[in-house]
Amino acid sequence: MRSEITDALVVGGGAAGMAAAVELDQQGFSVALIEREDELGGVLLQCIHNGFGLQEFNEELTGPEYAERWIETVKKSKIQVFTSSTLTEINLLERNLKECFIYSAVHGVLRFTTRTVVLAMGCRERNRGNVLIPGTRPAGVYTAGLAQRMVNIDGYIPGKEVVIVGSGDIGLIMARRMQWVGAKVHGVVEIQPYPSGLTRNISQCLHDFDIPLYLSHVVSRIHGIDRVEAVDITPLKNGVPDQSRTFRQKCDTLLLSVGLIPENELSKQVGIELNPLTGGPMVDSMLMSNIEGVFAAGNVLHVHDLVDFVSAEARLAGQKAGAYLRGWRPKLEVQVKPGANVKYVNPTKVDPTGQSEIFLRPLIVSNHVSLTLSLDGTVIKRQKKAHVQPSEMIRIKVNSKIFDQHTLKGDTKIVVGLEEMD
Ligand SMILES: Cc1cc2nc3c(=O)[nH]c(=O)nc-3n(C[C@H](O)[C@H](O)[C@H](O)COP(=O)(O)OP(=O)(O)OC[C@H]3O[C@@H](n4cnc5c(N)ncnc54)[C@H](O)[C@@H]3O)c2cc1C
Repeated sequence: MRSEITDALVVGGGAAGMAAAVELDQQGFSVALIEREDELGGVLLQCIHNGFGLQEFNEELTGPEYAERWIETVKKSKIQVFTSSTLTEINLLERNLKECFIYSAVHGVLRFTTRTVVLAMGCRERNRGNVLIPGTRPAGVYTAGLAQRMVNIDGYIPGKEVVIVGSGDIGLIMARRMQWVGAKVHGVVEIQPYPSGLTRNISQCLHDFDIPLYLSHVVSRIHGIDRVEAVDITPLKNGVPDQSRTFRQKCDTLLLSVGLIPENELSKQVGIELNPLTGGPMVDSMLMSNIEGVFAAGNVLHVHDLVDFVSAEARLAGQKAGAYLRGWRPKLEVQVKPGANVKYVNPTKVDPTGQSEIFLRPLIVSNHVSLTLSLDGTVIKRQKKAHVQPSEMIRIKVNSKIFDQHTLKGDTKIVVGLEEMD
């Protein structure tokens, strides 16, 4: 077994892992980047549509183009890259060292001893088991991300007559993609009364192709023995399926786009405290988990809609992991909590002496909203928002100046809320 020692080990070579590794390398630390697929890039490689990089590169790129920019930077660095290599176990040693085991198609078993780990394993898709659709269990039911990979990377078309469950971005993008490859998409079925994806995707992926969007509807049954033959679609009345208005839609394929969950098996294995609101690790102002020296960024921390935010967050995780390696720690942290109409905030602590960024996920769809930050009950920042919706994450910059007039104690907290205005 080959044994290695490194300052930092980054798990996952998607947008988050590459940004964190590059940042640590630029600070002069030795870094190993571990990726289980045979190339770097993560989910970006299967997202061949454009819409990536507007903030990071000031250009509209496709997913593979965005990945390529980062892969080139990684290639120019001293980062040791291990592809076709899966990290399966992290053990905590004395003096906050970590022992990591990696199974590599090229190198066999690798044992790394490291001072810091950055978790960047991305997320996984919820599936039929998570949404409990009754009916038979025929072939032809896929998660939308898997179907995207089949079409865009493996070159297979999963079916010709398609119904999609869930109007999240992956479902919307796959609706358009299936039309482009010659399939007929009969509709996108969404349980909520509003779409879950970005507004631009509703317009470009559904309206432009005349694909019906059934809001407040569910797929209530799957029919078919060997292959999907049809699904029942039922409207909701006061939140309850109204069976009297169920209609049957013939199809051979059902794509599920019913949400993403941070990939947290490794986090659980090492004993990281998870945030029940995000499903990812609970982190402090350094994006460090409850385990000293273990950081997290990107979709493993909380599911992002924009890759630019993933790169920015992971760069911060890399900076903070570097600061940790130099022995730096914040003197005081202020807790951040979700308030009215906010599902979650991340991170859950900020350092009041520096510039911070807080990400928040709204619970409401609304125009004319006031975003407020209250420090122990006093409003310290207010921002008008023309439109908010759950599918669009909000990023707020918090300047240390806003704390100037306040006495900060150990239990001081900021509450972030969204107030609807008339
Ligand atoms: C369909 C779709 C459309 C999107 N459209 C847009 C868009 O138009 N614009 C935009 O800005 N953003 C978009 N996004 C969002 C953005 O692409 C993602 O949020 C971002 O790329 C996620 O990066 P990540 O590094 O956190 O995760 P990932 O890209 O998932 O990377 C995680 C990596 O970790 C690896 N890994 C996991 N576990 C292990 C392990 N144990 N050992 C080794 N490796 C491991 C995985 O193989 C993977 O490569 C889209 C996302 C999807 C899915």
